[in-house]
Amino acid sequence: MTAKVLITTAIDYVNDVIHIGHAYQKVLADCVARYERLHLGNDNVYFLTGTDEYGTTNEKAAAKRNITPKEHVDEISGLDKKQIDSLNVSYNRFIRTTDEDHKKIAQEFFAKSLAAGDIYKSHYEGLYCEGCESYKTISELNESGQCNLHPTRQIQKIDEEDYFFRWTKYQSFLLELLQNERFVLPEGKRKEMVAFVEQGLKDIPVTRPKYKVTWGIEAPNDPEHVIYVWFDALINYYTAGLQNGFWNDETNIVHFLGKDNARWHVLLWPAMLKSAGLRIPDTIYVHGFVNLNGQKISKSLGNIIRPDELVAQFGVDPVRYYLLKHGPIIDDVNISLDHIKEVYNSDLANGLGNTVARLAKMAEKSGLKFELKSFGSEIFSENWAEPFKDYRVDVALQNIWKLLSEVDKHINENQPWAITDQDKLKTVLTYEVDQVRKIALLIEPYIPTTAKQIQEILGKEIIKSSAPLFPRLQ
Ligand SMILES: [Zn+2]
Repeated sequence: MTAKVLITTAIDYVNDVIHIGHAYQKVLADCVARYERLHLGNDNVYFLTGTDEYGTTNEKAAAKRNITPKEHVDEISGLDKKQIDSLNVSYNRFIRTTDEDHKKIAQEFFAKSLAAGDIYKSHYEGLYCEGCESYKTISELNESGQCNLHPTRQIQKIDEEDYFFRWTKYQSFLLELLQNERFVLPEGKRKEMVAFVEQGLKDIPVTRPKYKVTWGIEAPNDPEHVIYVWFDALINYYTAGLQNGFWNDETNIVHFLGKDNARWHVLLWPAMLKSAGLRIPDTIYVHGFVNLNGQKISKSLGNIIRPDELVAQFGVDPVRYYLLKHGPIIDDVNISLDHIKEVYNSDLANGLGNTVARLAKMAEKSGLKFELKSFGSEIFSENWAEPFKDYRVDVALQNIWKLLSEVDKHINENQPWAITDQDKLKTVLTYEVDQVRKIALLIEPYIPTTAKQIQEILGKEIIKSSAPLFPRLQ
């Protein structure tokens, strides 16, 4: 059993402020981090998120605004952090690739790979999408010769001297790594990655010449080059892991990311680590995308909603609950404001909120005392939590709601309001109160604020009824 866990989200590229499409990944990783803290203890969990800040896109955006790249990325990174904070995400560090320690560690990493003979100078001629900040082949473009993810951007033709990474050298290493069924979850994504490696990898440029891109970390071996933004960005996980004692063999390292980032994380990152003589992550969890009202979320469609707008409308816990229950844990999902409202009313207002209110009212009316019971951390290893082993927060949440409906059933069958025998009433209500006290602990990783409120309401010997936790939405 691993004693420590490092959990990361992808770091967001600061070409724009994050929207609700990005919110799922933050909340998913946060739920797992909070669960692991309850399970393993705070000191054994490190949770990392942040922003990816170099590259041509940011350099150009800053020039357009007549400010420095650093001023531009400071602003967007700050706005991203505000969005993430609005979702009550409990990161240990919000890393920025412009942080001094990261710059130093990224250069040291590059130097290790260079010393291993895996970085060499050559000529690159090809295509580049500045939206993806990545090299493209003709076959990856659409019929009009544009990137599918950035159809409004002009594809750049690149012809330059770069330093290349010997990706091809790690092809068989990657195939072997992909034999491990835990290395990429879910299973379908692992198979996709195997198929991609089997097509054959190509060595990839990992620097850009300064006369074209200045906004980057200088290559340690050549002051005329900056490190390619993806090569530097992936190293952020190692920077924070190393600095805090979480990049070692006692740590289970788990990266959460969206399907658009899978190749970089599953294929390039482990090859880079192997080249630098460093340990490989244990699991890369790849989730799907969120669509809104049946459409892709994008600036050009004008349908962007920011996380804080959703939180202002529904409250932070209802947004977290909804995403964790209905988010794209495997495949893409479609969401709508109507559906969020519907789930809020059925699961939270009529469900959890109603059970707590009913029980507190009966407990108050009974005039009885409900001795406090302490639950040990073993409740986080019970059957309901089994799906956490595969990061299926949605299935574990369904298990918690089954426990809740069992309490409802118990209340309806035993009808405490009609019991006249005080001893029997005490037995029935004590069981029900204790069950909901326990549920209030289990929901902490999902809806931490509500969990504390319920613990407050029911965590007393003399229980008093309280205002509804989730007023019904019309
Ligand atoms: Zn693109």
